[in-house]
Amino acid sequence: MRRPGLWASLAAAVVVAGVGVAGGLPGPASALAKAQPARKAKKSADKGPRKVWQTYRVGKGETLGELASLLGVSAADLKKWNRLRSDRLRPGTRLKFYAPRIEPQSVGRPSNGRLVGGVSVDPDGDNRGVGWVIAARREATWATPETVRYVRRCVSHYRHNYGRSKADPIAIGDLSRRQGGPLPPHKSHESGRDVDIGFILKKRAKNADDGPLRNATPATLDVAKQWFLLKCFLDNPETQMVFMEHSIVSALKEYVQKIYKKRKPLLRKYLRFFPGGGAAVIKADGEHTSHMHVRFRCPKGDRECIP
Ligand SMILES: [Zn+2]
Repeated sequence: MRRPGLWASLAAAVVVAGVGVAGGLPGPASALAKAQPARKAKKSADKGPRKVWQTYRVGKGETLGELASLLGVSAADLKKWNRLRSDRLRPGTRLKFYAPRIEPQSVGRPSNGRLVGGVSVDPDGDNRGVGWVIAARREATWATPETVRYVRRCVSHYRHNYGRSKADPIAIGDLSRRQGGPLPPHKSHESGRDVDIGFILKKRAKNADDGPLRNATPATLDVAKQWFLLKCFLDNPETQMVFMEHSIVSALKEYVQKIYKKRKPLLRKYLRFFPGGGAAVIKADGEHTSHMHVRFRCPKGDRECIP
């Protein structure tokens, strides 16, 4: 699955790592940090950025040598800290390591960028969570912590309103690779700010638990549910763009005009987001027939992020 040259490009990057912040759960790192003699920690602090104990969840196909250079530690230390008898790594294993903390960052453009210290929308790797399923490639569940938070928020908002008996789980498509970069066939999805979310159809999926992204037309789209989900993203000022196919955009606009007919302030507020409006977040195109593609703004403080 890995592209050749991925690690070469990583070596050129300043520091790139998927730190053990996946899921945001405190790993054994804090306990280890306490166990670390104070003298040793102080000594390393004199030499540069303060080192802390962290964890890294091993991805498929990753090797000890590659990870050592990725995390900025030696392979020997990595083996010692984790009491590894061989160089073989099992995917999913949490490796402890002691290195300067890596701040999550979106770097560059969505069409030419990378992701540093990204988090996975599916940290336990089981392809599902409350109200959603992963309908995409396993290596592309990564994004900035902000992106993951925004997606989770809207999906759980949706599930709260439409329970299991009323709606399929939301199908989450590609986000970014763990270290970002090209993700064919997408032209973007490189810097952890993009996510594809499957359209919600009137006809429920036969097997919603691994439902792929399904093509929708204005006739097959569940416009009410789709609007509910879309509205959540539009209400988030950090949403920069939402790409959808022309006819789907028209169907949603018609729906908005209908439901807010007697509530002019809301009508004005939401029409602004449509193409031609004052804050045209929604972009209509010919490609997004099976999903809406949501892009978020550069996270605050990510200085190398290009809008
Ligand atoms: Zn996309």
